[in-house]
Parts: sequence; structure tokens; C-alpha cells
Amino acid sequence: MARTGMDDALLDKLHEYWGYAQFRPLQQEAMTAVLEGRDSLVVLPTGGGKSLCYQAPALCMDGMAVVVSPLISLMKDQVDALRVCGISAAYLNSSQEQDESRRVMRDVRAGEIKLLYVAPERLMLEGMLCLLTEIKLSFIVIDEAHCVSMWGHDFRPHYRELQELKNIFPKCGIHAYTATATEQVRNDIAAQLALKKPEILIGSFDRPNLTYSVARRADRFSQVCEVLDRHPNESGVIYCISRADVESLSESLNNAGYKTRPYHAGLPDQERAANQEAFIQDRVDAIVATIAFGMGIDKPNVRYVIHAGLPKSLENYQQESGRAGRDGLEAECVLLYSEQDAMIWKRILDDQPDESRSTALQSLQAIQNYCHAFDCRHRYLMQHFGQDLEQDCETGCDLCRGDFQKVDNALEIGQKILSSIFRQDQNFGSSYTAAVLKGSKDKKVLANRHDQLSTYGLLKQESLTTIRHWVNQLVSQKFLTKTAEYQQLRITDSGWKLLRGEVTPQLMRTTQEVKSDKTRRTKNDLADLNWKGVDKSLFECLRSLRKEIASEKSLQPYMVFGDTTLRELARHKPKSLAEFLEIWGVGQKKCDDFGQQFLECITSFNG
Ligand code: ADP
Repeated sequence: MARTGMDDALLDKLHEYWGYAQFRPLQQEAMTAVLEGRDSLVVLPTGGGKSLCYQAPALCMDGMAVVVSPLISLMKDQVDALRVCGISAAYLNSSQEQDESRRVMRDVRAGEIKLLYVAPERLMLEGMLCLLTEIKLSFIVIDEAHCVSMWGHDFRPHYRELQELKNIFPKCGIHAYTATATEQVRNDIAAQLALKKPEILIGSFDRPNLTYSVARRADRFSQVCEVLDRHPNESGVIYCISRADVESLSESLNNAGYKTRPYHAGLPDQERAANQEAFIQDRVDAIVATIAFGMGIDKPNVRYVIHAGLPKSLENYQQESGRAGRDGLEAECVLLYSEQDAMIWKRILDDQPDESRSTALQSLQAIQNYCHAFDCRHRYLMQHFGQDLEQDCETGCDLCRGDFQKVDNALEIGQKILSSIFRQDQNFGSSYTAAVLKGSKDKKVLANRHDQLSTYGLLKQESLTTIRHWVNQLVSQKFLTKTAEYQQLRITDSGWKLLRGEVTPQLMRTTQEVKSDKTRRTKNDLADLNWKGVDKSLFECLRSLRKEIASEKSLQPYMVFGDTTLRELARHKPKSLAEFLEIWGVGQKKCDDFGQQFLECITSFNG
């Protein structure tokens, strides 16, 4: 897109208030739509920079912008983060005292606010709408816009009332933002909000700064510790399926000297909130949590997300793992799974009505297939969400890094497995099939007289785990399917082709079997690049200073400066305020407020 006078004005704001020098992908287009007063629908992944798409234009336009957000717990943080940058912002929601909300209304009336965050139910009150017709309204933002759609994963009835906005403010641009939207949800958002010829901008869902890896869970505690040890003093989230697992894992980690806190819906409210706060304020390293944790968490410097159990769908995985690396710096997502996890989820799903149960089972199979994928994991995730990746990620996932070894005689092994399944009348699941191929003396195998089959013991030199893995890989490549009820394996049309030798599957041995070379697994080119030239001891000093300032000013540490800025400071070691202002992420207001203290810290470190 060619640069215009409008872009220069926007870039000036980006530089002055946030200390950024460039637009991120699609920001320029999204901001232009706002400035031109057109409606828009913008889909960008977590960390893609959606907020700036409306915050920067708001500063270029007359009047006040209204931002509708369902996340009451986040509003204060969003407003605090804007205020430290020198932007006049405020919020209105049910968590406020009356006095405070009256003060905000007065400031709005006086034209002193540029960005007002409001909960949807609050916005649609008559008094509020009246006030907005009296003042100069620059535009309206609908954040987390998928909440308006019943097809989305987080429908909120109050969002439906926003349909009226277009009638009440026909001349006002309405801008919808979301990170997760299928085409169906997208169309629904545009229809529900009555957007007029909206500019629709859809970014890439890929998160190139995240590295993905998957491993079978053998010894959960030591596998989790292995990841934590790669991230000393860094923040991470560890997801478990059950509350009991959360408690026991957090306790074992603390006993081993790690600093973690548990988080699940069964904890008393106060304790849960305190644990979350300790995590956000960098007072502990990791939070061990059920999926109850995460909604409304904006912490940008989460460097790893470990799933110590299988998530229930790829949508959940995308969202939960997506909490890593919001600041664009390198972060890793590790999934540890066991076949038992799928059984646990199935038991949980047993109570659901048939229709939603069968969709949920499909979602569960999709995440299991991800675990057994053999292609690039970035590509796998993107394809699931209807996009493609131009080239493999090279070092961004365990598969591209070559942590697994391809099996040479995959066709022969695949045929052995499938013919055993055929001879077992396609009536059994993967563990049983593995037992037959292993030549097990299991009572059930003997009772069914499957020790008489010609396939009995055909893979006896392999471990049961390996055989089970291969069966699952064949499922993920669609040579086999599993029945919904009893998980019996059935041969598909492509399975028959495999049996006839017309197609070859891809089979791999797992890390444990290959005895992975640890240095290769931990190698992360992006991390090397992002830390290049950074004085790590100075970085730690700056981190402590950031924590001090944050607690003194009742801010979250990341609002003072993000990790990227601290790394830049520890790389370039500015000597004057003028040099300080040139650092990425330093705007004028933060330079004025914190510059001196950081410069002193750098000078005294240099001794
Ligand atoms: P989203 O809402 O899409 O998850 P955010 O708006 O929170 O993402 O942005 C993620 C991070 O990226 C924030 O720290 C934000 O300040 C930063 N960011 C946004 N736009 C830019 C940009 N053009 N240059 C540098 N950093 C940016």
C-alpha cells in the first residue's frame, strides 16, 4: 500500500506515543478504514496488534472513540496501559463505584477523553446512548466481536443488543475486531452489527514466533521441568486437564524449587485472583492451571505454554497456546499427551446431548491427529483454520527441526497393521491391535483366539507404544477411522489402497525412541536472534527496576516497558535521554517519566 499523508500522521502517533516505527501487517489498511469513516471487520491473531488499529486513528481524529469490550477484568489494564503512554482514556463498567463513573461521564461530556472502554450492557443504557449523541463521537469499536455470533465460541447475549448501534449512530464508523473467526462467524458478525460495505481484513493465523512441539507423556514431572529449565526467570503457563492435577503438579514443582501458583475454578475467589496477580506481576514464574485460566489475561511476555494433558480441540489449543509470545518475541508451546487423556475427555463428554457430543468428538479427534501429524505443525494448524503456509517453518516445530525419524519400510508396516485390523473383523481399538501385532499373551487376545491370526506377533520386535503410535498415525493420515462409540478401527477407502500397495503412508518413531539430541531440540534460531548482543545481566537489572516502578505506580510491569524494549536497552545501552527516546517501544511520555531512572540503572551497571 502506498504511503499517504494519512499514513504519515499515523506513523507520527505510533512513534510519539508508543515508540514504534512501522505498521504490522494489515494495520495500515485497518487504520485507513477507521480514518475514512468506513465500517470494517478485522481478523488478526492474538498479538497481531488489533488494539493499535483503532487507538492510533483515535488520536488523529476529533472527538472520542468508544470501545465495546466484554472483558471487564481487562478494561482497567487497557486504560492504564494507554495512560502511561500519555493517552487520555477511561472505562465504564459494573465494577466501578458510582462516584468514579460519574467523574468519567463528566470528563466525557467535557471532551477530555479520547478512548472510552465500555461493557456492552452499559453502553446500551439510555442515559449512556443519550450522552454519546450529545458529544462528538469519532467511531465505535466492537472488540472480541465473535461474541456477537451464536456460531462463535463465546456468544454473549448482550452483544446482540449492539445491532441497534447502526440505527442510532448511522454516520458513525463501526469497527469489529476478533482473533478467531470462521467464515460463518465472520459473515454473522457483519450481518448482526449491520455493517455497511465493511472493509474486511483477514490476517494470517500463523504465529511465526511460536515453536510447537509434541511429545508422548512418559514422566510428566521431569518433562515439565525440562521445559522450565530452558526458561529460568521467565513466565509460562502449564495447563492440566483436572483440578487435582493442577494442585499436585504445582506442589511438586514448588517442592523442587520452582516458583509456581495453582489456578482453577475450585479455588476460593480471593486465592485465585491473588495467584493470577502474582503471575501477572512477575512474582512467580509459572501458573499451573485448568482451562479456566486465560480469558482476560493480556500478559505479553509469556515465554512458554505447556499442555501437560491433551486439550479438547484444536480451537482450544490455538487459543491456549496463543497466550505465549504476544509481544512477538520467541516463545515455545509444548504439548504432552497420552492416549488416556482422550478417554478422560470422552467420559466428560458422555453427559452431553448427542448432537454436540458428536461435534466435540470430532474436535477431539482433530487434536489427536495434530499430535500424530508428520508435516509442519504450523501448516497443520493453519490448514485447520482454512489457510495455508507458503513454506515450512524450518525450525519452528519439532517435525521441521527433524526431531522425529521417518520409518523406511512404512508401507510394509502399514500393511501389517491394516491386515491385522481386517482379520480382527475391524472390531477392536488401537491398544488391542497393538497387542495382537506385538504377539501379546493378553487374556482378551487369547480368548478371541487372535493368537491364531497370521498377523499375530508380526511386529514383535517393536514396543507396544510404538505400534500404538503407528496406528494413530495411520488414523491421522485417514487410512483408518475410529467409530464414535467404542473407538473400533475401520479401514477407509485410502486404507484399502494402502493394502493394495497403491499408496504409502508416512510413519515416524517418537523422540523417546530416537533418543533425541537435546541441544537440537532446544535450539531456537529466533531466540538466538532476539538475544543477540543483549547483555543478559543488565537485562535482569532492568527487569528488577521495571518491577519496582510498576509496584510503586500500581501498574503491571509490562505497562512500564515490554521485554522487547528491555532487551533493546540492554543491547544498545543508551547514555542520554535523546538516545533513550530512540529505543523501540519508548514514546515521549514514558521517556519523560521513566527515562532518568533507567539511564541511571544502565550507567551504574556499566560502573
Ligand atoms: P492483539 O489485541 O491483536 O492481541 P495487541 O494489540 O495487544 O494485540 O498488540 C500486541 C503487542 O504488539 C502490544 O504490545 C502492542 O503494543 C504491540 N504492537 C502493536 N502494533 C505494533 C507495531 N506496529 N509495532 C510494534 N509493536 C506493535
